Amino acid sequence: MKLRPSWQQSEFSWRNVLWIGAVHLIALVGAIPYFTWTGFATFILFYYVTGMIGITFGFHRLLSHHGFHAPRWLENFAALCGTLACQGGPINWVGTHRVHHAYSDTPRDPHDVTKGFWHSHFGWLVNLRCDLANFEDYKHYAPDLVKRPFFVFLENYMIHIQVVFGLSLFALGGTVFANVPVGFDYHMAMSMTVWGVFVRMTAMYHITWCVNSVAHMFGDNANRIGDHSKNNAVIGVLAFGEGWHNNHHAHARFARHGWRWWQLDQTWIMIRTLEILGVLKNVVRPTQAAIDAQKRGRLAKPQQPSTRPQDAVPGVGL
Ligand SMILES: [Zn+2]
Ligand SMILES: [Zn+2]
Repeated sequence: MKLRPSWQQSEFSWRNVLWIGAVHLIALVGAIPYFTWTGFATFILFYYVTGMIGITFGFHRLLSHHGFHAPRWLENFAALCGTLACQGGPINWVGTHRVHHAYSDTPRDPHDVTKGFWHSHFGWLVNLRCDLANFEDYKHYAPDLVKRPFFVFLENYMIHIQVVFGLSLFALGGTVFANVPVGFDYHMAMSMTVWGVFVRMTAMYHITWCVNSVAHMFGDNANRIGDHSKNNAVIGVLAFGEGWHNNHHAHARFARHGWRWWQLDQTWIMIRTLEILGVLKNVVRPTQAAIDAQKRGRLAKPQQPSTRPQDAVPGVGL
């Protein structure tokens, strides 16, 4: 993958800083005063809807790596859920992620972990590379998605969609889930909005960022590949299976990141279920050769040099 010339420039992103700062502030200030169990249930529900269906199933394993084939309605639904995570539209997210795989842990990696934990976690969003900030540049990293008008719509209206979603939760909380006998329940409306939008988004930001930071610093280099990616069980659980990140970097197209029975991979459970139901086709599974190579790597001491084949870089038709 050839980078756009502007990759060497970056600019302080007021947009990212103000948006992410405001989301954190409202979550921190509002979480306790507006705690209700209904609000908490809203948080859990949309943590899964946006984080698992949207980001890990949709943006990541489906649209970035084409690890399986899904019908168009499901691609669109998953992309909408991913856009609700407010981590960028599908074209920006996928483009950035493909650059990460193509240049992992090098100066060309957008969240290069060798520049430190802070940079890979959040700093890269503060000083944002110009090739990832401007649509005319980053669209070149996901040309397959630019052809889809619905994805371009999601790209352009990410914040508007979030506002409509938040107002819907506010209205539902005040009426359908109201705890007052008459009138509009403002406390429940605020509870469902604060927990369903702001607390959920803050938690999801950090879990996603941890895949870039923690899962590139702490854990097991199980496959002895030449980058810093790690298998990290804690992130594996919290990020719906994405924490088996060394497995993923070794073979990016495998739709299953937890290759072994004990490596909990919630997104894989979803993919497998949909495959059994006949919704998904052509699911790319871990090969026995990959698993055997990992076992051999574990036995080899000292650490073996990289055995990563060139085709481990996600091809996905690029
Ligand atoms: Zn990575
Ligand atoms: Zn990936």
